[in-house]
Amino acid sequence: MSTKTVALKLSRDIKRMILVNAIFLTLFVPIALLSVKGFKDLSTISIIALWGLAMSVGNFFFVQTYLTRRTESDLKTSFDSIHHQFALDDLTGVYTRRAGMARLREELARSRRHGRTLSLAMADIDKFKDINDTYGHLAGDKVIQHVAQSLKAQLRECDLVIRFGGEEFLIVMPDTNEHQTVQPLDRIRHRLSFSTTEFKNQSIRCSISIGVATVFPVETDIIDAISRADQALYCAKQFGRNRVVHKDQMKHCQPIMPVHA
Ligand code: GH3
Ligand code: MG
Ligand code: MG
Repeated sequence: MSTKTVALKLSRDIKRMILVNAIFLTLFVPIALLSVKGFKDLSTISIIALWGLAMSVGNFFFVQTYLTRRTESDLKTSFDSIHHQFALDDLTGVYTRRAGMARLREELARSRRHGRTLSLAMADIDKFKDINDTYGHLAGDKVIQHVAQSLKAQLRECDLVIRFGGEEFLIVMPDTNEHQTVQPLDRIRHRLSFSTTEFKNQSIRCSISIGVATVFPVETDIIDAISRADQALYCAKQFGRNRVVHKDQMKHCQPIMPVHA
């Protein structure tokens, strides 16, 4: 049910209540007073009836012109905030896979409309199992947070960062192709490899590998495009990790099975 429908339903119910009040004050109360023995003050009865009618008409227009619109806008604000909270991953604050895929489809539709390409990058923390095994899972969580924040902070405002899996991030970079994105992504990778995550007086170092793919405006299958980025990531791992790989560098790489969104 949309916010408009909820607001309209509420205003309809309030208008019904106003109608019942109007009938009560303009008909029932005067009739009841007239039936009281000895009460003959017609001017008081007319004042009550007119006052009741005026109040009801005033309330009706208040609901019609102001209350419905304000309720709709309040509901929309609350819904947007709830939706926003559910769209973000608890640990990292970047998009969850579900919300991110929906945003990716929107971006893809926009690129197609404008006849532009967009880039997808799949980033994965290297040897992350070793970090968990050496420092513990809480430290591992902090490393995941650190990587997500570094990506978010160094990418453009319009780029999307999605937590695609445990320690994997899908990055969507609108209006770019893989050649334009390799350099900025490599800079992020390079900085990250020299930064540390502080956990209980320990400084933990990590690196990431990134696979990049271009999505062309003619493409309709987003899964295929994600598979290409995943394939490039797989090559980055094969070539020794801590690097960015794109299509041109993948000639000597073993193929992998496609991913499923
Ligand atoms: P590679 O360089 O090939 O990517 O090696 P890897 O060790 O990073 O890869 P692998 O997929 O074997 O390990 C990923 C690990 O990430 C396994 C899983 O237990 C851990 N993991 C997944 N999600 C979370 C999480 O939310 N928190 C923590 N601490 N660990 C997680
Ligand atoms: Mg990994
Ligand atoms: Mg992984």
